[in-house]
Amino acid sequence: MKHESVPFFRHNLSEADAASIAKVMQSPFITTGAVTRQTQSLMCEYFQISHAKLTNSWTNGAVATLLALNIGPGDEVIVPAMTFVATANVVELVGAVPIFVDVHADDLLIDIGAVAGALTPRTRAVIPVHLYGQMVDIASLRERIGPDIAIIEDAAHCFEGMLSGTRPGQFSDAAIFSFYATKNVTCGEGGAVITRSEKLALALDRTTIHGMSAGADRRFSGNVYRHWDMEQLGTKANLPDLLAAVLPAQIAQVDERRVERQRLANRYRSAFSNYPMVRLVNQVPGAVSAEHLFPIGVPEDLRDLVLRKINDANIGTTVNYRSVHQTKFYRQKYDLKPEDFPVSREWGECTLSLPLFPGLLDDEQEYLIENVQSILHEICNELECKK
Ligand SMILES: *Cc1c(COP(=O)(O)O)cnc(C)c1O
Repeated sequence: MKHESVPFFRHNLSEADAASIAKVMQSPFITTGAVTRQTQSLMCEYFQISHAKLTNSWTNGAVATLLALNIGPGDEVIVPAMTFVATANVVELVGAVPIFVDVHADDLLIDIGAVAGALTPRTRAVIPVHLYGQMVDIASLRERIGPDIAIIEDAAHCFEGMLSGTRPGQFSDAAIFSFYATKNVTCGEGGAVITRSEKLALALDRTTIHGMSAGADRRFSGNVYRHWDMEQLGTKANLPDLLAAVLPAQIAQVDERRVERQRLANRYRSAFSNYPMVRLVNQVPGAVSAEHLFPIGVPEDLRDLVLRKINDANIGTTVNYRSVHQTKFYRQKYDLKPEDFPVSREWGECTLSLPLFPGLLDDEQEYLIENVQSILHEICNELECKK
């Protein structure tokens, strides 16, 4: 079969998932209830952890977590500059200050030494990001910063990944997932917070629903109205059963799908490692990557040209990510300079992501690789001509 276009992503939700949603619609209860609780139990089992809370996004889950930890005005939270803006935005949303640090040039993961160097008496938390699916070494981070600063893992890219046999949540205060449309586990929009801490889990029960002392299914249980109170400010972060209904099947498939992601990623690796002008992200020793994205780096002055030519060949591509400290909001608010975080800045100017999802056909991927290689080749030749 000949392909003339390749999308950046195709979801895998099916008729069976539609039936799961229809089943919830036939019940009288469509918001957070039994289906969400069953899915939370599945999450606890998968991560071998005591508490899981489904949320309507990573972002709202993170805001609820920061509120539950009483992090707000006057506090600082350390975040990597190379991440999606949401990682820093949640810190702003609760009135705290995001303190950016740089990442390592080889794997683009947060520089633990830089985290240690950024600690102040106001530091309350660190949000390490398991960028592209490879885990930050959370045990080492904990050792480096001591027991008093919260570690909240941004595991939006890493549901099924592991480092030395450990999964997200095992050494941190909380790990937060995203179930956004293109994530490895999805329900369209959604997320989850997992934690070993009973105290944090109880606080999350409130901060995920307006700070109220009981959720809707509890307030109306047995058709008896119960008064509720509000002792603490919360947001609205709960996931409805309507969406939770598709998650059990997603979780059941995720490990099998990861194997396919890895096969596809390895095909890219053999096509582009040692390819002229192309830089790949190093694989972390001991890591099982969730292979969420497949970014490549090209010379920064050529990135936008390569990106446009790939799009012109009807191949879906994106940038993950331009460095957060260079966005207008953060640059202006904190007077940040591009060179403040040089590794993040440079990667942000040279990276672009190739389509990577189970269901990407081998001949689609071949079409794509051939096109990208000939685009790079062409640009390479043009540059030679100019010299
Ligand atoms: C997708 C993503 C988020 C935000 O997730 P939402 O569910 O859309 O709020 C946060 N961090 C990273 C690294 C992401 O990729």
